[in-house]
Amino acid sequence: MQIVLATSNKGKVREIKAMCEHFDVVAFSELITPFEIIEDAPTFKGNALLKAEAVYKALDDENAIVLSDDSGISVDALDGAPGIYSARYGGENATDKENLLKLMQAVKEKGLDDSLAHYTAAIAVVSKEGAQVVHGWMHGKVITEPHGENGFGYDPCFIPEGYTETLGELDDTIKKDLSHRSKALYLASLIIKTIKKGREH
Ligand code: IMP
Repeated sequence: MQIVLATSNKGKVREIKAMCEHFDVVAFSELITPFEIIEDAPTFKGNALLKAEAVYKALDDENAIVLSDDSGISVDALDGAPGIYSARYGGENATDKENLLKLMQAVKEKGLDDSLAHYTAAIAVVSKEGAQVVHGWMHGKVITEPHGENGFGYDPCFIPEGYTETLGELDDTIKKDLSHRSKALYLASLIIKTIKKGREH
């Protein structure tokens, strides 16, 4: 069964493909010309739905199953920022590195070396059967110096609860077990399996 990902974020595509070994996962940009989706909903859930619904419509294939991920990091010392604005914290076209540097600087400006933080992932599944959204979270802390090159985005400054190294330093398999995305994807896989069963009858 093919699952179409409504994202062009290379880090997300890589992680979702690795976590969904039982499904044939393709990024929508491998099927149709990629287009910009304005993510202007006030929640992760709303933005995940916007993305999956826009790609489902553009594919023009009634049987498509589209999965989207809207995610971000919320830092306690920054009153939950950047949250839904994580992808553009450092400016409209900011790179992952610019966003990471701005986040560490913002925590430093509070006079802190670290702060509690958590990642959120909202995953939407859109198909002819309907639209559903599930969530996953990963708690830990952010630090003000980057460590390691693994993962993507804010991973070099995020230390998961129970660990002493950042996701940039920890092996990818550890992130696969712990992450907000893998928790939400597990729930999404139950929805996809239910759709599959329904279509077999
Ligand atoms: P979105 O594409 O609008 O959902 O933006 C998500 C942004 O949140 C990414 O660009 C990253 O900056 C950040 N983010 C989400 N998940 C992760 C993760 O697993 N590691 C690091 N950064 C993440």
